[in-house]
Amino acid sequence: MEWKDAVSQLKGVGEQREKKLNCLGIYTIEDLLTHYPRDYKDRTRLAKILELEVNTESTFIACCKGSGEVLKHGRFTLTRLRVADETGEIGLLWYNQPYMKNILKPGEWYLFTGKLQNKYGRKEFSVTEWEGIGDHFAGGRIIPVYPSVEGISQKMLRGLMAAALAEIRGGLAEDIPLWIRKEYQLAERNFSIEEIHFPKTEQSFFDARRRLVFEEFFVLQGALFSLKAHLEEGNRGFVMKKKKVIEDFQNYLSFQLTNGQKKVLKEIEKDLSTGKQMNRLIQGDVGSGKTAVAMAVSYWVIQNGYQAVLMAPTEVLAQQHYLSFSAIFENLGITTVLLTGGQTAKEKRAALQKVASGEGHMIIGTHAVIQNGVEYRKLGIAITDEQHRFGVRQRGALNQKGENPHVLVMTATPIPRTLALILYGDLDISIIDELPPGRQKIDTMAVTTNYHERIYRFIEKEVAEGRQAYVICPMIEENEKLEVQSVLNYSEELQQKLNGCKVACVHGKMKPKEKQEIMNCFVKGEIHVLVSTTVIEVGINVPNAVIMLIENAERFGLAQLHQLRGRVGRGSDKSYCILVSDAKTKIAKQRLKSLTDSEDGFVISEMDLKLRGPGEFFGIRQHGLPELKIANIYEDMPILMEAQNAAKKLMAIDPFLSLDAHEGIRKRFTRFLDGKQLEI
Ligand code: ADP
Ligand code: MG
Repeated sequence: MEWKDAVSQLKGVGEQREKKLNCLGIYTIEDLLTHYPRDYKDRTRLAKILELEVNTESTFIACCKGSGEVLKHGRFTLTRLRVADETGEIGLLWYNQPYMKNILKPGEWYLFTGKLQNKYGRKEFSVTEWEGIGDHFAGGRIIPVYPSVEGISQKMLRGLMAAALAEIRGGLAEDIPLWIRKEYQLAERNFSIEEIHFPKTEQSFFDARRRLVFEEFFVLQGALFSLKAHLEEGNRGFVMKKKKVIEDFQNYLSFQLTNGQKKVLKEIEKDLSTGKQMNRLIQGDVGSGKTAVAMAVSYWVIQNGYQAVLMAPTEVLAQQHYLSFSAIFENLGITTVLLTGGQTAKEKRAALQKVASGEGHMIIGTHAVIQNGVEYRKLGIAITDEQHRFGVRQRGALNQKGENPHVLVMTATPIPRTLALILYGDLDISIIDELPPGRQKIDTMAVTTNYHERIYRFIEKEVAEGRQAYVICPMIEENEKLEVQSVLNYSEELQQKLNGCKVACVHGKMKPKEKQEIMNCFVKGEIHVLVSTTVIEVGINVPNAVIMLIENAERFGLAQLHQLRGRVGRGSDKSYCILVSDAKTKIAKQRLKSLTDSEDGFVISEMDLKLRGPGEFFGIRQHGLPELKIANIYEDMPILMEAQNAAKKLMAIDPFLSLDAHEGIRKRFTRFLDGKQLEI
């Protein structure tokens, strides 16, 4: 039997059972054997009947002394059976399992787990699990406990694992190269698969698990690195000349670029002038000025005779970028074109025509810019903003427009470097590590709903003095209608409660045009308080807005809250972020506190990761990260670093994995990249 065979090849797996296994994501022998235990029970220590203690879980071996009897006892049926070992005899008890009466054979030995209890006037052993021990019994074991579904018992899963292991035994090829296994002292693959299911000792379990975790990280990281090596090899990039243009461009900005921005521009400059195709990620905390970097690079590319495209995650943001780009580019003889899904057919036609003819130099839009039917004249660079909202797949689609344009992605979600490497392993990473000077500290406070009245008075006061506020109500993911309703209701309520304030709201169900109008009014200051959900306004820039009020703050991720907070504090006035939450749990309080304590996006995202765990941190595959089967990104960080190290070494030695010794791992990487596991 082989790794890729259907699980139905195993004895005892009929149609019914196969369906149930499918529910667990198990289709093949590989799926089955990589369905790892979620826990283990230590049954290595076997008790003797004489030693059994009341109310303590124990396991012992005993010989069946006859057939059982079934009794009615109130609502229960009790099945009783006597067993013995060399120290004594005891009565066993099963609740509501009358069929146990005749299953065990007199004279044979079995392993029983359960608790001795003192009930119904006697001491009896209530059995939770039992198994026959046959001829091969080699003492007690550590027992795996699997994630399961109804209709598939632990015992059944254990049986299937044992059967599959017996079929496969020793037959799995090693695909991690020998030199890596040696250097990182990894256990063998066959050993590890066996031990992870049925560990003989604690040590062998740790060895096995370490190997499998390493393997999982190594394949993920190595595959991304090798994808990158191929991209770099295969794709020659357009060469940009006249570097000085970037420096000149700084004169057109109303501020001096920070050193952080300059450093990143230098890195991009290097990529673009060498003839390689750039695939680069810019990480920069919210407000660090990523847009200016994008603008400078676009300007350079356009001066070289190419087009540049900037893709934003929302219409509002696209519109805003359009305004800020065209304000500067217009005077420089550069035509900026907006392209969004919300445009009328006529507007769109005109835009598309400009893109195709090359009359439009700078194209800004939403997903619309990567859709079919958009033809570029000569696309030199594709930039995506707020990357965390675009999947890896969309990144790929943008890449395909034109003949391998340079690719730049920008994200404000700060992630620790190790994690960035596995999320964006196919990209080079640049970090803008400082904020423009003169930024004020945003006063952040976490309060309960009791403070609403006080907050409202505060908003009134700020508005009376000419400033503005954002109010965020949480999105209700399962139900868009409810979500819209809650935004509508809340803004109506606010309109009544806030004297002298003009309140308006935007929500996901609104027509782009409507949304845009409201946003424009907000930018102009005609609307004082803007109510919305988070979906809409990521990245928006209105310096006159000084209050960010977030309702039900506990429902948001910390990184997300930090982003939202970054919407204020953009002008010269003192700004405030008010987190409202009635959540009582310690973790919820701790999370909000970390926001009031820190302004550093990296610190906050570390904290988020620690408190919520990686699953929630990353969201539902929003980064295109495949589900990990055994590794835990946070807890296994040291192993992740080793695996990354190993993957780097491998690439340094043999970037295209053409050596014989690397054939196995090359196939494994290919299988991984081709598989459904990573959407590229
Ligand atoms: P983000 O990185 O969050 O996208 P933006 O690009 O929107 O940040 O920039 C935030 C604000 O900071 C904008 O108003 C922008 O004009 C301003 N800004 C950017 N760079 C600088 C700088 N070097 N000095 C002063 N202000 C800057
Ligand atoms: Mg931005």
